[in-house]
Amino acid sequence: MTDEFDAPDGPAPAMESGSVESRSAAESGEPGDVFAWGAVSDVGRVREINQDSMLVREGLFVVADGMGGHRGGEVASAVAVEAMQSVAPSPTIGELVDAVHAANRAVIDRASGDAALIGMGTTLCAVARVRSADPEPQLGVINVGDSRVYVFADGELTQVTDDHSLVGEMLRDGQLTADEAALHPQRNVVTRAIGIQNDLQVDYWELPARTGDRYLLSSDGLFDELSEAQITAVLGRLADPEAVANELVRLANDHGARDNVTVVVVDVIDGADDGPALVSEPPLTDHRSIQPDGDDAMPAAPAEPPAPSDPPEPVATRRPVRRIVTAVVAAVIVLAVILGFVARYARDNYFVTFADTNGAPSESSQVVIFQGRPDGVLWFDPTVEERTPILGLDLTDALILEVEQIPEFDSLDAAQRYVVELTTRATEANG
Ligand code: MG
Repeated sequence: MTDEFDAPDGPAPAMESGSVESRSAAESGEPGDVFAWGAVSDVGRVREINQDSMLVREGLFVVADGMGGHRGGEVASAVAVEAMQSVAPSPTIGELVDAVHAANRAVIDRASGDAALIGMGTTLCAVARVRSADPEPQLGVINVGDSRVYVFADGELTQVTDDHSLVGEMLRDGQLTADEAALHPQRNVVTRAIGIQNDLQVDYWELPARTGDRYLLSSDGLFDELSEAQITAVLGRLADPEAVANELVRLANDHGARDNVTVVVVDVIDGADDGPALVSEPPLTDHRSIQPDGDDAMPAAPAEPPAPSDPPEPVATRRPVRRIVTAVVAAVIVLAVILGFVARYARDNYFVTFADTNGAPSESSQVVIFQGRPDGVLWFDPTVEERTPILGLDLTDALILEVEQIPEFDSLDAAQRYVVELTTRATEANG
């Protein structure tokens, strides 16, 4: 497969000749730059195609991990990253989020024109310098899907983004531990992606750009192979962001690199000197439904400038409630299913025995067909299904003994056949 990626603005992507599917870019700070960075995207050891794409330029860093058969994933991530190119230098966080929705539209439009691409999608995470009222430089972080943005600050690695994956959600809801999540067979099932539907939720954060902070953007091909401790060690050991990117990709390959590996390392070299320590916080979410495209007469520029984040609803307070509600609903459903099985087990059975009119068995009383289990299950007690005209007095001792064994049947029909047979045998025995 040809590599369609071009590092925009970037100096010649050279190096890493070990794989034709490796591409890289790096830049050390020019005067006035806020960032220095290094970036490598590698096909890995197993895949034949690199479906990851990245975009690196001063002030904007994007990683996208495409999914979809044939060339779909490759195209989806490339289209999304290309759409992000149109972001103006130093956008507001709202404009950055707008660009993600535009990328969503672009991938959907591209797929709708090509049957081979239907169903393609991509993750997308980004770090960008954003313009804000705050005099100190600010960073915007955005995320859709299960690629990750980490920040390495004061020797500590913190994942900024939430994984939009089945396992990520179970982890956040406390249904899995981090160790279980890391090995979960369904850890690659994403619950949010670009290009899948018009309706899209974009997580975003605005953070102070602190000099010395190091951001890591990567596709899951990195952190599925390396532990956070291994990643942290490399981030702390090597000063040059390009060297870090190369080393992380090399280690992922050493560990088997079953997926494409993309690593973008961004150092804040001219940010705020100090500031509030970065606190991991839940994202704000921009939830928007884009209009399906189809009007060719529309100008190329978006006709209705999407209101840059009409004050986004802070999910910070709503979200725990939603999680609790989700957990309760899930628990109720699980309980209902279990009770369903118990009830079915308890009731899906018939037995025959003697019963008085008050229900206590006795050989001098009536032979009765019950529904349920003889001893009951939980609060599911057996109930009388059918009283027969046969009395214990009509039966021989052997037959009384047999009925006292409480024969069981899996259908009413079978129980009724047994009662008929019992009558026949009693008649024969009594001559
Ligand atoms: Mg991947």
